[in-house]
Amino acid sequence: MIPTISAFDRIGEENAFAVLARAQALAASGRSVINLGIGQPDFQTPGHIVEAGIKALKDGHHGYTDARGIPAVREGVARYTEQRTGVAVSPDNVLIVPGGKVTMFTAILMFGEPDVEILYPDPGFPIYRSMIEFTGATPVPIPITEENGFAFKADDVLARITGKTRLIILNSPANPTGGVTPKAEIDALVAGLEAHPTVAILSDEIYERMTYSKDGPADTHVSLLTYHSIRDRLIVLNGWSKTWAMTGWRMGWSIWPDDLYDKARKLAVNCWSCVNAPAQWAGLAALEGPQNDVDTMMAAFANRRTRVVDGLNALPGISCIMPEGAFYAFPNIKQTGFKAKDLASKLLEETGVALIGGPDFGILGEGYIRVSYAASQEQIDEALERVMAFLDG
Ligand code: PMP
Repeated sequence: MIPTISAFDRIGEENAFAVLARAQALAASGRSVINLGIGQPDFQTPGHIVEAGIKALKDGHHGYTDARGIPAVREGVARYTEQRTGVAVSPDNVLIVPGGKVTMFTAILMFGEPDVEILYPDPGFPIYRSMIEFTGATPVPIPITEENGFAFKADDVLARITGKTRLIILNSPANPTGGVTPKAEIDALVAGLEAHPTVAILSDEIYERMTYSKDGPADTHVSLLTYHSIRDRLIVLNGWSKTWAMTGWRMGWSIWPDDLYDKARKLAVNCWSCVNAPAQWAGLAALEGPQNDVDTMMAAFANRRTRVVDGLNALPGISCIMPEGAFYAFPNIKQTGFKAKDLASKLLEETGVALIGGPDFGILGEGYIRVSYAASQEQIDEALERVMAFLDG
């Protein structure tokens, strides 16, 4: 055994990638597999964005860029953010990063060390806890419950703040639950945070374009950027992966307060130097070009959302509340008698339907599974039929 630092004994991972690998292996062996496990749109990146990437390559954008991101791209993000939120953002506070994950990595590294507490949602994106543990900080879960529509509650967050709290991670619309936190709750949280002026906030808003009402896509997201009183300690995580179906391009952006921006920039210089130059030009085209492909994708997600939730509720032992955002449903499977991860693995091995067990997103995920409806309607219907046959059988 070659000794390494103990942090590597604590670092976790994202089981969705292991499930993806297993699903691909089963498919390669000739099995019919329906993947409702991975969190990525089943759409192609819109054509004009791909063309912008190709053009950038042909035009010779082959070298390093500014570590913070190409100025025109940072300006594009600032303009886009202002259009979406009504809040003025300077390009000098925008950092272009290789994927949404890199912002959480950077922010958690910036605040985590032994004897520090970091609050994070449970169930929530697994990398939050993994990275908190990596730094040696103490992870403090914020309970995200079905009873509360999978939204976080201001009081639950505020009650967990102590003298050791340095960072609070929030995520709405949320992975894995699809929960959206109502504005009144965010108002109450921000009012309470005013009593804790040295606590930083990381708001993961990567699903901000994906909110729904009963009639379809609703675009009702409330960004934490709109709260002036916390701007000097707010880090916003966003990116291209979900909205423009660009998960494989590895393109994200973050907005940092003045005090923290240069620290994040230095980490960029030490680690990734800059983001792939043609991908950045493609990213600018995504922000500034036509949005009709995004609208088409959101309309498809909205349709599937009701279909998948109705289908899940028709299954024996399963009940599912209507998620208000992202592209996930998080059904309660307690009455099936299965543990969540056992059910997910049996469904994959025996029926070829890939889903993720709730405990892969935290202790409070037991009793639930995550269903990604980033798959075609036909695939969703077929998957529901297979699960029905399995549970009936
Ligand atoms: N935050 C959340 C809540 C996510 O679900 C994901 C991706 N599944 C990310 C961040 C990371 O996105 P990216 O693929 O751009 O790194």
